[in-house]
Amino acid sequence: MRTYISPTSILANDEMTYYLMNEDDALKEMSKLIREANEIINLSSTTIVRLLLHHFNWDINTLTDRYWEDSDRLFRKLNIPNPNSSPSSIDYNPLSPPSNIEQNPLSPTSSNSKLVTCKTCYVDKSFNEFFSLPCHHQHCLTCWEFYLESAITSDSNIQKISCPSRCNQIMNDEQIYKLLSNNERIKKRYQHILINTFIETNRLTRWCPGNSCSTIVKIKTYLPNTAQMIACDECKTVFCFHCSKQWHEPVQCTLLTKWEKKNRDESMTSEWIVANTKDCPHCHSSIEKNGGCNHMTCRKPGCVYEFCWLCLGPWKDHASRQCNVYEEGSSSKNQLSARENLARYMHYFTRYQTHNQSLELESKHSNQVEQRIQEMQAEAMSFTEQQAIYKAFDVLQQCRRTLKYTYAFAYYLYRNNQAEVFEQNQADLERATEALSGFLEQDIDSDKNNSLKLMDKTRYCDQRRKTLLDHCKEGYTEHYWAGLDTY
Ligand SMILES: [Zn+2]
Ligand SMILES: [Zn+2]
Ligand SMILES: [Zn+2]
Ligand SMILES: [Zn+2]
Ligand SMILES: [Zn+2]
Ligand SMILES: [Zn+2]
Repeated sequence: MRTYISPTSILANDEMTYYLMNEDDALKEMSKLIREANEIINLSSTTIVRLLLHHFNWDINTLTDRYWEDSDRLFRKLNIPNPNSSPSSIDYNPLSPPSNIEQNPLSPTSSNSKLVTCKTCYVDKSFNEFFSLPCHHQHCLTCWEFYLESAITSDSNIQKISCPSRCNQIMNDEQIYKLLSNNERIKKRYQHILINTFIETNRLTRWCPGNSCSTIVKIKTYLPNTAQMIACDECKTVFCFHCSKQWHEPVQCTLLTKWEKKNRDESMTSEWIVANTKDCPHCHSSIEKNGGCNHMTCRKPGCVYEFCWLCLGPWKDHASRQCNVYEEGSSSKNQLSARENLARYMHYFTRYQTHNQSLELESKHSNQVEQRIQEMQAEAMSFTEQQAIYKAFDVLQQCRRTLKYTYAFAYYLYRNNQAEVFEQNQADLERATEALSGFLEQDIDSDKNNSLKLMDKTRYCDQRRKTLLDHCKEGYTEHYWAGLDTY
């Protein structure tokens, strides 16, 4: 188990600790909770304790409260036979030889070779090849294994397995594991089902959403409706614990859901605008975008016009333009026509989408550069220079991700003085990010000067990002953000 301090959470300002675990850690964690709960309620079957904990989302306090209130009612509700009223399960040796099997009249009478017919498969077998639960329904070991295998493979969510004679007697997990001791595959599968349910029903745990990543996150305290940043060190995914989506600061989970729904609803109208080709505003030849940087230069000989991919304005005086701000017409906001509403939405959506594309392109570029550096001769680039490049790509990606979500934030934001400060911060971060991205698109070499410049640009970008996010956080606390009505 590895411990981390969560660097950011949108609502809570206190540092939140989280752990990264694998399945084995999770299994230990699950057993520990079962043990702790059973120290209080003291049942003979830990499997029943597991079922009770599962019902209460692994919250021991709620379980024990309800249990002491009325345990009978609780067992009835969960359709579990009350273990306190069936004494046969106590002191029961799960794999003891059967005691009351009808003797097969055709079998030899010699006592140590007595054969018994299994009532399920009608095969004659010796005593020690049978097993029964406290309900005394005998089945041969082969039939048990077959029964368990089909129960476990047919229900990918199975939580309890009862006696095959349909008598409601619940099997203990230890009995299941023992009966499957020759079937490692099904045993592992059952264990995985239990761990998976444990993680998905426990409010404190979650799978890493990264592609085929099997890392598990556990947070220290549960805070409802609070976005919390988790960085998986296995697959490098940075995500929100609360909603499992890509980390989305400064937007809150509920607003992000609303924004994504809006994007789905508008997807027909927005398709045309996020195309990868646009016409050069100067010579009208078609230009394809294949890098993350939004500072474009037309490649047509004789044109070489430099412009901004987002607003198509000239790059020359781009710093003085408010590329990120939507200029509304003279009509006030709530009187915008449908056409203006769409234009306003498209302004934000295009930028949201373009930063996302840049994020993907730059992540690919980053991998290529990393590979090229590894192929270089050791003397071609110093360790410090290498680290400067890795750090720059890391900061660039954080800035892109932040910029992407600032456009969802800005779309819902009502205009006021603080909103203008936010837009200024956003413009500054955007400018710094494009400068860093453009710089990284140049060939990497080991020019001392370049390395220093790169570190400068990286530091500046990082600073702009922190300034913007700090202001957003302050706004949540001080209630600047009218329009983001979900907090
Ligand atoms: Zn059988
Ligand atoms: Zn039974
Ligand atoms: Zn992961
Ligand atoms: Zn979230
Ligand atoms: Zn051109
Ligand atoms: Zn622009």
